[in-house]
Amino acid sequence: MHIQFLGTGGAFDYQLGNSAAWIEFRGHRILLDCGSTVYPRLRETGLIHEIDYILITHCHDDHVGTLSTLLLHHAYNRPVPNKPIILAPTLSFRNHLYQLLSFSIPVPEDFVKFAPIYELRGLEAIDTFGLHVPGMPTFGFCFEDEDEIVIYSGDLGDSRPVFDLAARKRRHGKPIRIFHEMSFEETNGVHTHYKELEKQLDTYNIFAYHLDPADTPANNRVPLVIDQPDLLWHPDSTTL
Ligand SMILES: [Zn+2]
Ligand SMILES: [Zn+2]
Repeated sequence: MHIQFLGTGGAFDYQLGNSAAWIEFRGHRILLDCGSTVYPRLRETGLIHEIDYILITHCHDDHVGTLSTLLLHHAYNRPVPNKPIILAPTLSFRNHLYQLLSFSIPVPEDFVKFAPIYELRGLEAIDTFGLHVPGMPTFGFCFEDEDEIVIYSGDLGDSRPVFDLAARKRRHGKPIRIFHEMSFEETNGVHTHYKELEKQLDTYNIFAYHLDPADTPANNRVPLVIDQPDLLWHPDSTTL
């Protein structure tokens, strides 16, 4: 499994790109989140025409801000029209995305397909409803293939659902990598404080994203995605 980040910043860190990932999983190419900086990044990298599936963690602009532009691009600029597929963790979240898209694309199904997440074997969602912003649907995702388990938190003020799943997955005896959003500020539960993630470092291989590394305190021990060249997208990294 390959995971490379297209951006590692938070909502306001435009220069780092909004956090989003390119994942190659069981022969499928997956875009995970499509925030405000992602469409230009997909154009720059040439990945824009390579997407099989799209996963969305939640509907803040730094995660969906250019989703409709991406779908319109596929419809009007792709040599052979081939609709990408949004994998929805639940029917209600599918309807949530449908409503969001319908503001700019009145008939979304003309531009995108929706499918349930279980269409991809080894992929499951982590329902984190209300744990980023009260009342807001949010999801993390877990990818399991024959060799490895990768867990992606999405924006999350309470990391317990991620580590509850990780604890169950440990029984499978495979290496686990956890990509977790993180903040260096006291965040009132909207994001996960680095001291919370540090408690898990003895047990798990964790890399943090959705932050500005310029804010890193000297005592931080959580490895950052942005410091791992292998985790940042580069053209030689694709295997498909
Ligand atoms: Zn965010
Ligand atoms: Zn958010």
